[in-house]
Amino acid sequence: MDKIGVFICKSCDIANRLSIDELEAVAREQGVTSVYSSDFLCSKEGKEFINSKIQEDGLDAVSIAACSFRVNYDVFNFGKTAVDRVNLREGVVWSRFPLGENGERLEDTAEIASGVTFKDELMALAKDYIRMSVAKLRSYKLPEPFKPEEELSQTILVIGGGVAGLTAAIESAKAGYEVVLVEKEKVLGGFAAQMKAHCETKAPYRNLVEPVVKGLIQEAESNDKIKIYKGAVVSNISGGPGLYNVKINQGGKEEELKIGAIVLAAGFKPYDPTKLEHLGYGVIPNVITNVEFEKMAAHGKLARPSDGAPIKSALFILCAGQRDENHLPYCSSYCCLSSLKQASYLRDADPEAKAYIIYEYIRTMGIYENFYKTLQDDPGVFLTKGQVSSVKEGENGKVRVTVENTLFGESIEIEVDAVILAVGMVPVTAEEAVLNLEYRQGPALPELELFYGYADSNYICFPYETRRTGIYAAGAVHQPMTIDQAIEDARGAALKAIQCLKAIEVGHAVHPRTWDYAYPEWDLKMCTQCKRCTEECPFGALNEDEKAFPIPFITRCRRCGTCFGACPQRIINFKDYSIDMIGSMIKATEMPEQGYEQYRFVAFVCENDAYPALDMLAYKRMSIPVSIRVIPVRCLGAVNVSFVKDAMSKGYDGILLLGCKYGENYQCHFIKGSELANRRMENVQETLQQLALEMERVTIDTVAIDELEKITHKCQEFAEIIKSYGENPFKGW
Ligand code: SF4
Ligand code: SF4
Repeated sequence: MDKIGVFICKSCDIANRLSIDELEAVAREQGVTSVYSSDFLCSKEGKEFINSKIQEDGLDAVSIAACSFRVNYDVFNFGKTAVDRVNLREGVVWSRFPLGENGERLEDTAEIASGVTFKDELMALAKDYIRMSVAKLRSYKLPEPFKPEEELSQTILVIGGGVAGLTAAIESAKAGYEVVLVEKEKVLGGFAAQMKAHCETKAPYRNLVEPVVKGLIQEAESNDKIKIYKGAVVSNISGGPGLYNVKINQGGKEEELKIGAIVLAAGFKPYDPTKLEHLGYGVIPNVITNVEFEKMAAHGKLARPSDGAPIKSALFILCAGQRDENHLPYCSSYCCLSSLKQASYLRDADPEAKAYIIYEYIRTMGIYENFYKTLQDDPGVFLTKGQVSSVKEGENGKVRVTVENTLFGESIEIEVDAVILAVGMVPVTAEEAVLNLEYRQGPALPELELFYGYADSNYICFPYETRRTGIYAAGAVHQPMTIDQAIEDARGAALKAIQCLKAIEVGHAVHPRTWDYAYPEWDLKMCTQCKRCTEECPFGALNEDEKAFPIPFITRCRRCGTCFGACPQRIINFKDYSIDMIGSMIKATEMPEQGYEQYRFVAFVCENDAYPALDMLAYKRMSIPVSIRVIPVRCLGAVNVSFVKDAMSKGYDGILLLGCKYGENYQCHFIKGSELANRRMENVQETLQQLALEMERVTIDTVAIDELEKITHKCQEFAEIIKSYGENPFKGW
């Protein structure tokens, strides 16, 4: 960008703590001639003022030195004119304060180094931010929407014809989209269609109703927008969002379709009960699972498998092989409710029948508590907490169960006609190839230990989204859930699929950077085929050709910049985030001479959680050291080692990388960006060794969005530690 304008806001405390004249002067020193300041740039008049100067001065880029880029982004939008935001408000005047020894706030005139006041350092910070912004805009290229040459498909593929799949298909069709639904069985409806009844899916959540799936099947089958393949599987998926080529195999006949987005609703399988021998399954004929009991109920006869005699008493063992490290460590969320429902089948069939429900934990999700209460009031239903210590065969086909540590404080022995094991859910994808992706990183969704094979990438921030862009999980393949939850979940997943189609149509990132038109671009002339970008991309956005050159599929890309951070050749760049740009920003800052104890630190801060946290601490007027220059990055994965080299060679005394937590309870929005940044620290340490600098000068830390105290403390601690090593010897070179 050649014709840059700098606009400095004087409101929100900026002019109270900073000299606007000096800021204007520093912008002019950078060769900018269009330098203006005004009150309330974000007001209608302020925006009109900027617009008028863009026209008069023929500006192609503006640097708005005012508030954080996280606010007023809709105000400071000037169409084809590039915008950079200098965060003087949150980043300078609201979050940098001189503090006394006991943390008390001092005057800006306080001396903080020999002959240097806090105000001097505050101005130095603000001036550096203006220099960085001008340097950034000089290397900035306006991102263009990504428009593939191939025609985009708007059709949604739904895999699975159970409650979730049918709901996703119906909702997508209602929104006007063509749908292709693939069900591997010859009939629709999944397990729900084989049920006798389930709890109602709306208030008062107290009664049993005929499975709603029957109505969903009728609705889907009579909808012209939904094309249904029964007895069919998806044998191959290649391409990416908007551009998928999907092969469907139906009875050996293969058909290829163009698809835009995918809802994965392949459902669950019951946990393998043969692993529950200790509870009598497979050993005692009258020990059966909840799934088997349900089918029995649907066929209208509750009879003992051993002799066909009516079941007049049954004992339900909850959490059978669940919440158990030796089996399923998680709760399947539907089975307590299902056992209560099945107890009511028994009572409805025979008012003299007895149901015993033994639980260690009992939970009915949401308002299904109402159904639980109804059963509690039934004198024929006996509920107690306790541990089943033995299940033995009794006389005349009976089963004898010993329960210890009951609420009565003693062991009890109960003899019943049948024992029903409440077995849990296992996602179908854990056992079967469903997607068959033609992706470099494998045909299935990557498994995360944390999610036990369930298809998701981040339950907290991005429900529905899998680690393959354009593929959204719904129902029991997503997480264990009840029928009403599956319906809700399918609606959400359908909406996400539609959002994906819209984003691809417009040409920006699908999620989470839904405003982002920039995407990584490769200059392959210098590529050494090292495969780092293809291996490290968390979303499988890159395939490889036969010579191991990366083949990007931009519609799969989430614009995280992990590939950019990985590339040792530095040949992957975004139009608005490049090696040259960040290097120029670092070089543009002013480094004080050595020996004056004016320390300088740079912090590469992830835009997802850490940067918003910095803004939030500013709103609370908490403080981080004035010596830290913050550079926002797409993700810590998008920090290239060259940034460290540039900053250290410039003379920065220390570098702090702040990103999201990784590991078991990760919160990284790009799954493993911050983890990769941590691994890359080995390369950073080599760089530091080459420069004969202490390893501690570069530190990585992880924070959650609400850990404001921790951030201020970490920043201060980091600055103090580096000061104990003294200044960077490269300072002032
Ligand atoms: S920006 Fe992220 S999602 Fe896109 S190709 Fe690079 S690593 Fe993959
Ligand atoms: S990381 Fe860079 S050099 Fe390595 S394969 Fe990717 S583009 Fe080529």
